[in-house]
Amino acid sequence: MRFSKLYAPTTKDAPKDATLPSHKFLLRGGFVTQSGSGLYSFLPLGKIVLDKIRDVVKEEMDSSGAQEIQMGVVTNADLWKQSGRYEIFGKELCRLKDRKNNEFVLGPTHEEVVVDIVRNILTSYKQLPLHLYQITTKFRDEARPRFGLLRGREFIMKDGYSFHDSTQSLQEEFDHMEETYRKIFTKLGLDFRVVDADSGAIGGSGSKEFMVLADNGEDDIVVCKSCEYAANIEAAKRAKRMTDAEAPEADFAKFYTPTPTKDSIRHIAEFFKIDEFYTIKSVIKKAIYKDEEKIISFFVRGCDTLQETKAQNACGALELVDASEEEVRAAGLNPGFCGPLRMPEDAEFYIDIELKDEKNLICGANEENYHFVGVSMFNFKDSRYKDLIQVSAGDICPKCGAKLGITKGIEVGHIFQLGQKYAAAMDAKFLDKNGKTQPFYMGCYGIGVSRLVAVMIEASHDEKGCIWNKQTAPFLLDIIVSNIKDEEQSNFANELYGKLDGKKVLLDERKERFGFKMGDFELLGFPYALIVGKGLKEGTVELVERKTLKKTKVKKDEILPLLEELLS
Ligand code: ATP
Ligand code: MG
Repeated sequence: MRFSKLYAPTTKDAPKDATLPSHKFLLRGGFVTQSGSGLYSFLPLGKIVLDKIRDVVKEEMDSSGAQEIQMGVVTNADLWKQSGRYEIFGKELCRLKDRKNNEFVLGPTHEEVVVDIVRNILTSYKQLPLHLYQITTKFRDEARPRFGLLRGREFIMKDGYSFHDSTQSLQEEFDHMEETYRKIFTKLGLDFRVVDADSGAIGGSGSKEFMVLADNGEDDIVVCKSCEYAANIEAAKRAKRMTDAEAPEADFAKFYTPTPTKDSIRHIAEFFKIDEFYTIKSVIKKAIYKDEEKIISFFVRGCDTLQETKAQNACGALELVDASEEEVRAAGLNPGFCGPLRMPEDAEFYIDIELKDEKNLICGANEENYHFVGVSMFNFKDSRYKDLIQVSAGDICPKCGAKLGITKGIEVGHIFQLGQKYAAAMDAKFLDKNGKTQPFYMGCYGIGVSRLVAVMIEASHDEKGCIWNKQTAPFLLDIIVSNIKDEEQSNFANELYGKLDGKKVLLDERKERFGFKMGDFELLGFPYALIVGKGLKEGTVELVERKTLKKTKVKKDEILPLLEELLS
């Protein structure tokens, strides 16, 4: 490709809201252009990268045995009502009506549509397993679209759906997809971890995320410093927390504890001169359900933090929000003095599982200015106990006993075992080996294909611009003619370009200053540049490696085979 013909409008500055390198460089390099909040168009360079990523994904998916299909972006709202997600999905789901008032949904994911495609057609275990996938546009009306392609409203996802006659068959495909995804992200040259994850609104049990390690990631991931254990903070576990601090042994009693309600745990620990480990903290939330709202209390150790996704899963709410002081009082609770003993009769509450059977604790007495001491946690139903705490750095690995650390990651893939949830809700059944009808077991598997374009840059850039690897670079080589008026330089560059693959090589023969062209090379981040400049008179050209910006002089007669090798 000749640079003079390429539509790549590069700019010096990025818009103010572009704070991350990938966002800045994608806009400045003219890879993409923004058309609205969370809406982007891919320009030629961005489209080449997108297609290269898509090709890697497609190749591995095809060789895994999955079959590519293409479902519509506009989906029938009835299907969403059948699965129950029409309400559950909340505001991210873009609902629309046609001229006849029929209701539709812009597909944020396609479980419903794919179930509808196979139901009444896959009717026997003999037709299973089956895996269908697509690489298409999704729409989610994200609350905060940001970071360019990392969190758009319209984006491109590879989404696959598998159908099985048993949990065992589903498990096999789930493991097979984990392997397939590992191959895809390895091929793309990414440093990633496979982590245990929360299943979120998609539901089901058993899910793993593929996280690319990156400082600018939105996700916190817990990783063991010694073994393979890794998990999203929303799902991370730890070995039960212990302490060396002395236990405040005491008989059960009620104490007058006039402490401020703000930061009450610290005041209580100081008041009794004990470690916060031995206190119980209450976190009171307003839980939003489809048709109602409830005030719910969550109890964790004073030294722990409530993990909100775990809390939400514990009570099955659609959303948890902070409860105001009036709302807390209206529910019969005392802010600052709330504890699991003697809660109002109808109050809903959950206790962190690590508190089960613990003793010598101090907690609010559910009475203004009073706490209980000598509390033992023996008399609660098992259903009250849930895993509620957020793992923090320095906690102990549940697998090997070493210390856990926390790093940032970007989610690039997510695989789920959905089980029978969707098939049961949508009445998609097959005849099993014993002649009994039952709903399919399903798995679903997503990869953020357009997000990956940005992830490649987050994973590899410097202050000047992108640094593409060979697998995803829009062009592998940029031949820069230093002085376009110099006929010898022009002729040499043109001749060389003519001998190379024009799909891999860009010839920068624009009538621009050398510095400007070099700046574009650095910003756009092709793996190599060849500078055809003054040295040509002495018979040399200069090869620049983008990663290191190291320049190497090469004899002009020796350059062709060298380039051919770099491009192969
Ligand atoms: P996130 O937690 O980042 O919002 P998610 O868990 O909602 O993502 P999934 O439903 O698991 O996303 O979708 C599969 C993949 O699609 C994700 O792993 C991610 O790579 C990609 N993806 C999800 N939302 C977006 C978005 N708004 N913009 C770009 N890619 C996205
Ligand atoms: Mg996900």
